[in-house]
Order: sequence, then C-alpha cells, then structure tokens
Amino acid sequence: MLDKPAITSMLDTPVAQRMPREIAPGVFWIGDCLAQRHKGKVYHGYNAAFLVAGDDASILVETGHPKDFPVIERHMNELFARGIAPLKYLFVTHQETPHCGGLGRVLKTHPEALLVGDVSDYHLAFPQYEHRMRWMKEGDEIDLGGRTFMAVEPVIRDLRTTYWGFDTRERVLFPGDGFAYSHYHEDGHCGLVAEEAVSLDLPDVSSTFADLALFWTKFADMNAYCDRLDHLIARLDVRVIAPTHGLPITDVKTTVPKVQEGLKAAALMPETGTNEKAQAAAS
Ligand SMILES: [Zn+2]
Ligand SMILES: [Zn+2]
Repeated sequence: MLDKPAITSMLDTPVAQRMPREIAPGVFWIGDCLAQRHKGKVYHGYNAAFLVAGDDASILVETGHPKDFPVIERHMNELFARGIAPLKYLFVTHQETPHCGGLGRVLKTHPEALLVGDVSDYHLAFPQYEHRMRWMKEGDEIDLGGRTFMAVEPVIRDLRTTYWGFDTRERVLFPGDGFAYSHYHEDGHCGLVAEEAVSLDLPDVSSTFADLALFWTKFADMNAYCDRLDHLIARLDVRVIAPTHGLPITDVKTTVPKVQEGLKAAALMPETGTNEKAQAAAS
C-alpha cells in the first residue's frame, strides 16, 4: 500500500482549524456559520467578515452577526499577533444586522478605526462615534499601503445604501449579499471555498437563498442583473469573490455562471417562504 499523501489541502484540515483563512495574499476570511432549518434540511450560512491587510493599515469588511463577535475578535487578534498592520478602517456593505451587528463593538475595541462607506443613519445608533464616520462614494479609494480598498457599484443591493468593496491589488470583490448561498455542515463544507465544496449544488442553494432573503429578485429581470454582474467583473478584472453569506469564489469563470443560474431560476418561482410560514401558523 502507498503511503498516505502529506496534508496539502484545506480538505484535509479539520473544520475548526480552517479559519481564519487567507483566500488571497493579505485577505483573510474570518467569522462563523449560522445554522438555519428549511424544508427539513439544515442549511449553514456564513455571516462572514474579511480582513484586508496593507503595509500600513488593515480594513475590516463587515462585522459578522452579533453572535459572532467573540469569534471575529479572536480571529482578528490572531492575525494582529502574526504581525499584520493595525485596524484603521471598518467598511460594512449595508445596515443589516448580519453585516454590521458588531459595528459598535469594533469601534469601541479599536479606537483608531474609522467607519467608511455609505454611513447613513449609523450616527443615530452610535452618536458617540459620529466623528469617526467618513463617507465614501463609488470609486473612492482608501490607501492601505501597497494596496487600496475601493467602494464599487453594488449590482445586487439589499438596501438603498449598499456599496460593494474591492481590493485593487489582489482584485478581490466584496459583494455583501451578492453571491449569497448556504452550504452543508454535514458535508464538511464549512471553511471551504466554493470550488472545494464539490458536493454543493450551487444553483440550488443560490436559488433557495434568493427565495428566502432577497424577495425583490421575484419581481426583477435577473437576466439584466446577471449581465451587469458580468460587466462589473470584467471591468474590475475580478479574480476572487468574497461574499458575506456564500463560500468564497476563487474560480470566477467557472463558478459565477452557476450562481447566476440559481438567481435566474429563483426569479421564475413563486415565493415559498411566506407560504410555509402561513401553513405552519395554521397547523
Ligand atoms: Zn445579508
Ligand atoms: Zn458551516
């Protein structure tokens, strides 16, 4: 019998040891999964955050779900202990809890950090941090030292105030609720990138997520949105996609069409979530 091959890939790494995971040089995926039941299955979703480290400064993209703050903080501290640049910026794609639920705690724990992006309304919840909020418009860039972080067009937007982010050096797109899909804990998908989770049916989980979380996709022509996504990916020359709820995408050409297939399929189906809830209430 041949010797077992040496551990060479993330697939051989226990789930608990996969995070924080460097998905591109200096871009770290941090955070934890959230389990949700739907149609008798347990779906896992991420409410991920990403730390982008420049030579002089790091930026945190998203803060994770409120429950995830201890994990996010532990992962960040591990990375700072490894010597990455201090946290000077926090960018959240929009004001929903799974994206910005740790905002106050991040600003409290990192008194040097500024909140950047579309900062509408945050001062109402955190008036004590209003002087640390800075507006970004589409195309604005923040210099991190050796790389910049840019606010870019949010093609799939959950709220009016949504912006997507982009790392100009490794060409990593941070699309918030774009490319949202769940994964299966039982299949060992946690902590894997989309291309490693070979048993994950991307069109199926993408359409389920759109059905449950992005109701407006039922009333829009998703062909137009998918064309616009292709346009953005080509214009920015995107090489890696780091979604908040999905697994990171490292092969844009192969994987993006599968997610788009799910979005287009979901748009053609009636909304199921509300009907299920109505049945449950009646029974
Ligand atoms: Zn979301
Ligand atoms: Zn998981």
